[in-house]
Amino acid sequence: MKDNNCAYCMQGELVAKFAYPVCELETSFVYIFKEQSKPGRCVVAYKDHVSELVSISAEQRAAFIEDCCKVANAMHKAFHPNKINYGTYGDTGCHLHMHLCPKYEGGDEWGGTFQMNPGKVYLTDAEYEVLAQKVRDNL
Ligand SMILES: [Zn+2]
Repeated sequence: MKDNNCAYCMQGELVAKFAYPVCELETSFVYIFKEQSKPGRCVVAYKDHVSELVSISAEQRAAFIEDCCKVANAMHKAFHPNKINYGTYGDTGCHLHMHLCPKYEGGDEWGGTFQMNPGKVYLTDAEYEVLAQKVRDNL
């Protein structure tokens, strides 16, 4: 099921406003989140337009969480954060996705809750591609 107004469903230009594509996994599409105040921040978006973790079967949920863990492992190897924070918000988007937000001791928002979009750091597409390739190389 797709929603024509949903960035994660439509991908392309809509999702490019805030995310850069990394790859496709079993149940999800992986992106670099364009706001990079926490270097290496990623989004793992479920393939279907469902709102809640409880809206999918236990089997699909386990596979989605496994995708998130694969990306988290790749981020640990590629970017060496001190901690990864996990957030599934989507109050207005209603498309199941998880923000994987690497945190660095002494760095931006360390010790607190990460903002959805702090709007501080943006890179060029060439720089996003370098980050995306680092994730791909470590998956
Ligand atoms: Zn959607």
